[in-house]
Amino acid sequence: MDREIRRADVVIVGGGASGLAAAIELGMKAPALDVLVIEKMPEPGRKIRATGSGRCNISNSGAAGFSRIMEFFREIGLVTKTYDNGLVYPYSESAADVAALLTERAASLGVNFACGEELMSVKYMPASLVSDAAPGSKNIFMLESVIKDRDGLRSVTTHASFVILAMGGKAGPTFGTIGDGYRIARNLGHNVVTPVPALTGIECDEWDEGSRPCGITLGGTRSAGVVSLYKDPKEIFGEETKVFEEAGEIQFTKYGLSGICVFNMTRHMRYNRRAGESVDEFLVKIDLFPDGDIAGYIRDRQKGCFADTPAGEILRTVLKEPLADYVIASADDGLDEYGRAIADRPLYSLSDEEVRATGVSSFADTRME
Ligand SMILES: Cc1cc2nc3c(=O)[nH]c(=O)nc-3n(C[C@H](O)[C@H](O)[C@H](O)COP(=O)(O)OP(=O)(O)OC[C@H]3O[C@@H](n4cnc5c(N)ncnc54)[C@H](O)[C@@H]3O)c2cc1C
Repeated sequence: MDREIRRADVVIVGGGASGLAAAIELGMKAPALDVLVIEKMPEPGRKIRATGSGRCNISNSGAAGFSRIMEFFREIGLVTKTYDNGLVYPYSESAADVAALLTERAASLGVNFACGEELMSVKYMPASLVSDAAPGSKNIFMLESVIKDRDGLRSVTTHASFVILAMGGKAGPTFGTIGDGYRIARNLGHNVVTPVPALTGIECDEWDEGSRPCGITLGGTRSAGVVSLYKDPKEIFGEETKVFEEAGEIQFTKYGLSGICVFNMTRHMRYNRRAGESVDEFLVKIDLFPDGDIAGYIRDRQKGCFADTPAGEILRTVLKEPLADYVIASADDGLDEYGRAIADRPLYSLSDEEVRATGVSSFADTRME
């Protein structure tokens, strides 16, 4: 295998959000430094392109350091808009634009990029042990990386005075992040706090094949609502077991639940493996009708002009169709004496128990992505 050797003052490993921001800061504040970004993927900012469902939620007005973040984006020329809920997005609502702008800005400041190159290891060693170390340097970093291209594998050694590890965590491995930064940081003598999943979607039991009704039918549906998280399945929905609650847009996906309020909820799904706890300790309750009570809404219409209306039809006036169908199917325990499912039965024929059941639909989560 051929080996290439090169030098840089600063090597930034990872051309994601933090690596690109660091590259720009260095380019602006220390233009004399020779800065190189080593990025595993064919182009920088792959994960940025997927953020905020392709819109890139840049920040929110309550975030720590908000004014500095906004100043940074103003400096690089990004026009943003802030919504009433404080969330900030690029004016174009395009995450790809943000990734391109960060990359172009860094390149225009003289930062070099080595894309499609994967860092394998880093050593920090006395310069005297390295034959072509820059004169006068005491200790240097020696980075070993590999480039995979049509001609096969090539090894590259980079000597650097400073290294910034910006290799992301483990979330979204398809964007290049599998957690190898932890190993490299640990090998350099850093302490690494064991990572736990947070700010992520959750997979739910109700999406398993064979579940009736099956959550997969909800894939692609979005709805406003309130998510509540409970810890300890024995006391499912008691106030004392509620650990989190937030209103927002809930995204029902092909695997379970997502959306910003769900992301914020997963931050609280901490459990102690050593004490025998598991993610099964948690239950999620979703209120899809926070302005009222679905069961009450149906009960109010059991008499009068809606009495003959099928229950499914009534529910679809409150909830989006897939959600209405899911909720009503959850309340269903079979067909009535005339062979009708609950969705097709007139409201007047529903028992108190069936009406109550339409108001309860909960999702028990099993694992986080
Ligand atoms: C689907 C999704 C949506 C999101 N939406 C938002 C949002 O709207 N707003 C928000 O603030 N946050 C959002 N996030 C979180 C946000 O993307 C991350 O917090 C952010 O990307 C972290 O930046 P980073 O630079 O630390 O890591 P990353 O962006 O993950 O970048 C790390 C980079 O290092 C590279 N790398 C890793 N290992 C190596 C190696 N060995 N050699 C060379 N390169 C390597 C990777 O290829 C990657 O490009 C979202 C995350 C996901 C997955």
